[in-house]
Amino acid sequence: MSIFDDFLINAKTAVSAVGKKAEKVIDVSKLKYAEAGLQSEIGKKYQSLGEFVYKSYLSGEMDKEALDRRIEELRELNDNLESTRELINAQKNKVSCKSCGELVSADLKYCGNCGARLYSEDPTEEDGGEACADSDDTVCRDVERTVKEAAEDAAATTI
Ligand SMILES: [Zn+2]
Repeated sequence: MSIFDDFLINAKTAVSAVGKKAEKVIDVSKLKYAEAGLQSEIGKKYQSLGEFVYKSYLSGEMDKEALDRRIEELRELNDNLESTRELINAQKNKVSCKSCGELVSADLKYCGNCGARLYSEDPTEEDGGEACADSDDTVCRDVERTVKEAAEDAAATTI
């Protein structure tokens, strides 16, 4: 089994895990690792495909089956890369509960794990469920900052 297979399996496992349990939080650093591996592998495949086409051109013979196989490999890798990036983006919209530390959707007002309020109380708040349309809203700014910090944390833990 090649390193490439490992990355592919990681990405596929992550995708299927999300499919089974949408709320399950996936380790972003693992996703980033899988993403980097996929990108590297895709780069090599493109290079290899270029050499293959070049040599085929010079020799005047094209092994159509070999070409199909290479294209199919690349397509699968690109699909996986796309899925992995979707998962990473999904994780970025999470905040860490100040009470229990669980990563939960930034859209929620209360932690789905422990029930604690996710953002500090604001007496002027009437509808915290709305998106941050009004940038003067301190709660919204808090949310945005928390989300940003979570994303930065995730990026910082990347290998
Ligand atoms: Zn909690």
